[in-house]
Amino acid sequence: MEIKVRSCLDSLAVYQPGKPIEEVKRELGLEDIVKLASNENPLGPSPRAMAAVAAAVSQMNFYPDGSAYRLRAALAARLGVEFDAVIVGNGSNELVQMLSLALLEPGDEVVMPVPTFPRYEPLARLMGAVPVEVPLKDFRIDIEAMAARVGPKTKMIYLCNPNNPTGTIATRQEVDWLLERLDPAVLVVFDEAYFEYVTHPDYPDGLDYYRRGYNVMVLRTFSKMYGLAGLRVGYGVGSPRLVGYLNRVREPFNVNALAQEAALAALEDEEFVTLTKKTNEEGKRFLYQAFGARGIPYVPTEANFIFFDAGRDERVIFRRMLAEGVIIRGGFGYPTHLRVTIGTAAQNARFVAAIEKVLAE
Ligand SMILES: *Cc1c(COP(=O)(O)O)cnc(C)c1O
Repeated sequence: MEIKVRSCLDSLAVYQPGKPIEEVKRELGLEDIVKLASNENPLGPSPRAMAAVAAAVSQMNFYPDGSAYRLRAALAARLGVEFDAVIVGNGSNELVQMLSLALLEPGDEVVMPVPTFPRYEPLARLMGAVPVEVPLKDFRIDIEAMAARVGPKTKMIYLCNPNNPTGTIATRQEVDWLLERLDPAVLVVFDEAYFEYVTHPDYPDGLDYYRRGYNVMVLRTFSKMYGLAGLRVGYGVGSPRLVGYLNRVREPFNVNALAQEAALAALEDEEFVTLTKKTNEEGKRFLYQAFGARGIPYVPTEANFIFFDAGRDERVIFRRMLAEGVIIRGGFGYPTHLRVTIGTAAQNARFVAAIEKVLAE
């Protein structure tokens, strides 16, 4: 039987997520698995969010609020932007998809770093647009090279800041330089999924560029700092006109009712945010020390993961770590680098013991 699909699908692969714990248990017959592959919050979900979900369960016969009124109002108030500048998505992933649907025509170009978050490229292709991939320089986004690749067909630029999988930032000075030069018709998308983790003084807040009237969209998420990856809720801030267009391509009930309640509660959970930051900073120091002591090169991070050089074929290291019950992530286009999520103290110790064993073989 012939199935007639759009030709652009030939260049698309199915997204391969970090291996789920249950799958590894089944495949390897291991019981005690540590997943440090997807930058999830190692402390679990925000306790306030859990309580809010439990309280909302009895209402799930009703459709969710399609306009996500209360969540958007809470975000707008917290961020100091207009209500109409805020849109929520089924994860910030969905906002990348909405931007692609709303902006991209066949032949348009989308400038992005590589490696980076692996959704920008396929969603550009899905629209028949052309991803223009600009290699990192010293594991950092190469702003000058990105600017040099902007041309008359460029519609969007993605700045993943901090960049996943390297954890490095583009500085305020670099982003200022870029935005001063850029054709204002080109939308700059700041993917700030790890915004809340950053401690570097030169880190630019994408919202400042929005407030100054630049053509930008800022994406953030409840998946990481707030521990809600499984519920799928993220948000975007951009001009009300752009948000209006995104609303035209948005599914009417794109963020489910439990996710909306959880996100509202998590936003107020300052205790959980503080504890998550503290855990991440302590884990970071522990892992830096452990890498340093073993002569394992790593890229200093502003996020909740560390990109490190195992010095051997990353595919082999990945499989060996898996057999030790520790799920990490490779496949980023660097032959010997992998990414590990910063976990709890116990998880980090488990990772270090495993990597030490694997590298000694
Ligand atoms: C984890 C992550 C996201 C979050 O995606 P959600 O759909 O909100 O879960 C977005 N961007 C980057 C760069 C990420 O690493």
